[in-house]
Amino acid sequence: MAHDLLLRNARLPDGRTADVAVDGHAIAALDATGADAARELAAEGGLLAPGFVDCHVHLDKAYIADELPDNESGTLGEAIANIHDRKREYTVEDVRERAGRAIEAHVRNGCTRIRTHVDVDTIGGLTPLRGVVEAREAWADVVDVQVVAFPQEGVVQDPGTAELLADALEEGADAVGGMPANERSDADTREHVDACLDIATEYGVPVDMHVDETDDPTARSLEYLAAEAIDRGVEDVTAGHTCALAAYDDAHAARVVDLLAEAGVNMVTNPPTNLLLQGRHDGHPKRRGITRVDELREAGLTVAAGQDCIRDGFYPYGRASMLETALLTAHAAHLQTPAERRVAWEMVGANAARVMDVDYGLEEGAPATFNVFPPSVETPTDALREGVAPRYVLHEGSVVAENEVRSAVVA
Ligand SMILES: [Zn+2]
Repeated sequence: MAHDLLLRNARLPDGRTADVAVDGHAIAALDATGADAARELAAEGGLLAPGFVDCHVHLDKAYIADELPDNESGTLGEAIANIHDRKREYTVEDVRERAGRAIEAHVRNGCTRIRTHVDVDTIGGLTPLRGVVEAREAWADVVDVQVVAFPQEGVVQDPGTAELLADALEEGADAVGGMPANERSDADTREHVDACLDIATEYGVPVDMHVDETDDPTARSLEYLAAEAIDRGVEDVTAGHTCALAAYDDAHAARVVDLLAEAGVNMVTNPPTNLLLQGRHDGHPKRRGITRVDELREAGLTVAAGQDCIRDGFYPYGRASMLETALLTAHAAHLQTPAERRVAWEMVGANAARVMDVDYGLEEGAPATFNVFPPSVETPTDALREGVAPRYVLHEGSVVAENEVRSAVVA
């Protein structure tokens, strides 16, 4: 029987080469040598690896960097304020077009599973959400997009946002976000976390908050979120950024890490943006500004890395490349040995897939969502070193990108 597609001479993760067969949406056989197929692709010994996963990115803000005032202070606070005017001018079409461009860039770089945070507040209303949901529908055959309703401007200090979060879930959002540090007091911060957890529980959706994206060592929303998750029995909770955890003294940080492990919170670090925004006003030596990746991993937590920003007011770079994100994470988190390089790779792969709760792997029967790298890339380390875009990108059995450019990631 002929298969739908055969990948000739692909390099498997164990180093062997084999012909890999795909039928329909799934991997049919990892060693189909001698089989026939309706279509064949030549891997020529290039690495076959599961598709990248970007579990934290902001598609609604992508590509607006050059329209905004300069972020003179280089801080998160100024970046948030600088976007307000542009956000008022958003239209659904504008957001849909930019989000679609960012999705396409992800796909060409080998990432077809994306979790995006989308601003929900009284400035932009539901316009960003509607634009991203339309982009998701337009790209539905090519990429899986999860949408997190994200109250960037606060909940307590932006009255009406809690209602908008519920409306966002009605209109297609998949999860509730949060930005508890962006409130005026610790009491308001806790009220923010409570409000978001209430909505998540009511709608039965995951929670994925931006937590303590600050260098302030007194920021305390992370431990509050973990404790509330335990008390309420909320299981699918993710905390992004968590920069303040790195600013705590070691004894307090250890206590918080233990609490996170008890709650089973998934952790996401965003080194591209946070290397740029955090630590700016430190004297020397300047901190790296990312969370405690090593200690969180040692505690057994799932730790992933996300692109976060693509040319917006927070970060003027970014090209939807999970290889670049992994490489920056490797530098920021001291990932150097072969085992540590594997960690960097998994932070934009298996670990990010756990955050999104999507299938990941190359087993027979698994979704044929994978990348085929050029022949010069035989291992994940080769991919990190070369920064090379996959030659073929497959999503559920369909070839969704073929890259002729083989010497660099696709911008
Ligand atoms: Zn973010």
